Amino acid sequence: SRESTVSITVVGASGDLAKKKIFPALFALYYEGCLPKHFTIYGYARSKMTTEQLRTTVCQTLTCRIDQSESCGEIIEEFLDRCFYHSGHYNVEEDFAELDKALQQQEVGGRVANRLFYLSIPPDVFVDVVRCASKCASSLKGWMRMIVEKPFGRDLESSAELTRDLKQYLSEEQIFRIDHYLGKELVEDLSVLRFSNLIFEPLWSRQYIRNVQILFSEDFGTEGRGGYFDNYGIIRDIMQNHLLQILALFAMEPPVSMNAEDIRNEKVKVLRSMRPLQLEDVVVGQYKSHVKGGIKYPGYTDDKTVPSNSITPTFAAAALFIDNARWDGVPFLMKAGKALHNRRAEVRVQFRHVPGNLFKRSFGMDLDQATNELVIRVQPDEAIYLKINNKVPGLGMRLDHINLNLLYADRYSREIPDAYERLLLDAIEGERRLFIRSDELDAAWSIFTPLLKALEVRRVAPELYPYGSRGPTGAHYLAAKYHVRWGDVGSEPQNAQA
Ligand code: NAP
Repeated sequence: SRESTVSITVVGASGDLAKKKIFPALFALYYEGCLPKHFTIYGYARSKMTTEQLRTTVCQTLTCRIDQSESCGEIIEEFLDRCFYHSGHYNVEEDFAELDKALQQQEVGGRVANRLFYLSIPPDVFVDVVRCASKCASSLKGWMRMIVEKPFGRDLESSAELTRDLKQYLSEEQIFRIDHYLGKELVEDLSVLRFSNLIFEPLWSRQYIRNVQILFSEDFGTEGRGGYFDNYGIIRDIMQNHLLQILALFAMEPPVSMNAEDIRNEKVKVLRSMRPLQLEDVVVGQYKSHVKGGIKYPGYTDDKTVPSNSITPTFAAAALFIDNARWDGVPFLMKAGKALHNRRAEVRVQFRHVPGNLFKRSFGMDLDQATNELVIRVQPDEAIYLKINNKVPGLGMRLDHINLNLLYADRYSREIPDAYERLLLDAIEGERRLFIRSDELDAAWSIFTPLLKALEVRRVAPELYPYGSRGPTGAHYLAAKYHVRWGDVGSEPQNAQA
């Protein structure tokens, strides 16, 4: 409000995420007029840096979204004038007391002084920072909130321990666990699609849906930054959080309202209805080097930051099941991988056959292959399209399997905000809908922890796949076991291509 100030402290401001995502998102919010009138941004890290140096670094990543005119430079200057830097250790209370003094200097005018901390640091220093900041730099007259980045532990036990540690200093309402997939436009749109259109929700069950696929692929490997990844692997890095969050939003029962607690209650319910994942329902893979067009693409273990005998999966496919009345027996297939042939995140919903289909006997196509499929493409080139069967115009009767296509770039001229913008704004406004509650996190880990333990105890060797390929063939056998064909293989109509 007009009577309050907000200070945003980016802890780990010297790091990659701060530079690439957090400062640009804060600037975009400022540019759009979404930040409160009285705001200050502080960068905090151990690196020695002056405020001027921070501003110079931050400046390099800022762009004005719409106009590149002269005013753009002015707006950037105005924004940078509100950015400061404070160097300190993560576990030294005095350093945070110094930060507190610096923050107080900006919090003038007797206004309510709110403070948001963004913990963009490795997980081993989370608790130190939370302790020091809550003891020495919390707001005396206003709220204090902390945005926490993944990883939230590496299994059920360590995640619960982290939550316990955080809650020594913070209440659940103060903890904003970020999963940036929840800030993505099409992930937010899932609920709109389902609950504001008559034609989807009545079909949203085992009665009409044959299977659901949640797919993620990257077309690059760890590229010299495998140190962090090797300790986690693709299941922890992508599936247990990003893909499972999409699944929960997709499959939850209609919430009482769009209020944060109502939605999160439904997400917890659906997660708790899921069977813990079994080893036999998972295929793990790891990319190996591959020569293509005279270029040698490195294998995962060629990365100098990865141990040469690593068996960490860079690919995984899994079949999950929700044991409730709506989804009983419907396979939810997930697939996530690095160094694959494309970059994509999407949800594919394959519907059942039309019972007693009048057109079954030929008319030019195999109707077993031509069931309806709804595709929600989260990135890149956001789109929603529905595969339908249609008559090819002309005399005679020939059918065509085509797309009803909503390509965002064609329909909406507005650039889509980065996920971090939406999430930062929500945290400032105290909107918790897109952040992960601790019981949700527990439920999510309960599904994956037995599998992760089994993979480690048995030292399950990943199936190797060439860099740039479609991943291990084992994924096809897994899908076939549940009579599923992956929707992302085979040809796509031209207008649906990325
Ligand atoms: P980062 O660059 O490795 O680390 C951020 C800062 O933390 C560094 O600039 C460094 O600052 C400090 N730091 C690094 N290693 C440390 C250590 N061992 N002990 C104490 N401080 C250390 O990390 P990031 O890529 O910015 O990511 C920040 C957080 O976001 C991490 O928790 C990461 O898991 C998570 N995350 C990152 C991404 C991404 O795209 N990068 C995506 C999702 C989540 P000083 O040395 O100056 O103190």
